[in-house]
Amino acid sequence: MPEPIYDFTDTVVLVTGAGRGIGFAIARDFARFGATIFLNDIDSARASRAAGELIKLGYDAFAAPGDVAHPDDVAWIFKHIDEKAGRIDVLVNNAGVEPVSSILDHSLEDWQRTLEVNLTAAFLCTQQAGRRMKAQGRGSIINIASIAGKSQPLYLRSAYAASKAGLVGFTKEAAREFAAYGVRVNAVCPGVIVTPMTEHLRNNPEQMARWRAEIPLGRLGQPEEVSGLCLWLASDAASYVTGAAWHVDGGKNMA
Ligand code: NAP
Repeated sequence: MPEPIYDFTDTVVLVTGAGRGIGFAIARDFARFGATIFLNDIDSARASRAAGELIKLGYDAFAAPGDVAHPDDVAWIFKHIDEKAGRIDVLVNNAGVEPVSSILDHSLEDWQRTLEVNLTAAFLCTQQAGRRMKAQGRGSIINIASIAGKSQPLYLRSAYAASKAGLVGFTKEAAREFAAYGVRVNAVCPGVIVTPMTEHLRNNPEQMARWRAEIPLGRLGQPEEVSGLCLWLASDAASYVTGAAWHVDGGKNMA
């Protein structure tokens, strides 16, 4: 059995949108290195299933269902964490939606919902976690943005790109403000990762061929390749790192 490379024992982590995909991989990998993990998802059955899977592996995991774009649900999630764990050390704002639409046809409802889930939810969770982390004098917040919000326009993803660019800006503001409390805030900007969110792209051979040709590493990413960066950002190995937006995209964007 190899020695763990990280030690997250006595560390309490909330991952939003953790019922599947990147969020689940992040939750599982923090748990693997000893963290107590709270798995949020808007689909409560999915959150319970995901937490159950980790519990079966012997990890310390709790479901924390709810819509993180809704202030009442967020307040409940943090109350639940207070009651079960009494602290919060790492927040990963991962929940996201990606509607595909031309700007000309975008419904206002879809536009607003995208901003609420991808950006406002991160604000609401950061506010709750930030108050607790300030009192603790320590914490790490990781916002899962996207290359779409930093350096890579996609196509027909205007609300998504706007929300993720907003999340990168919010990350820098939060990093600036929370530095005085010992709380570091970073953004992670994945390229195309193999999850249910990108199934439609993977089912399109033409688009896949184009992406592969443009990615220096020649392949799409796996969810655990995003979680690897999150573990490092939350660890003491990254103690001098805050306010940065990190690409995890096989070298597609090198800026
Ligand atoms: P995913 O497979 O769709 O998983 C996201 C999970 O979050 C789903 O279970 C989703 O439920 C849930 N969720 C959505 N809205 C929520 C809300 N308001 N409250 C709580 N949970 C909510 O997506 P993913 O590919 O793992 O993506 C995770 C994050 O990485 C997202 O922020 C995404 O934008 C970002 N990202 C992904 C890629 C990629 O290539 N996959 C690239 C760059 C960035 P529903 O199914 O009901 O919506």
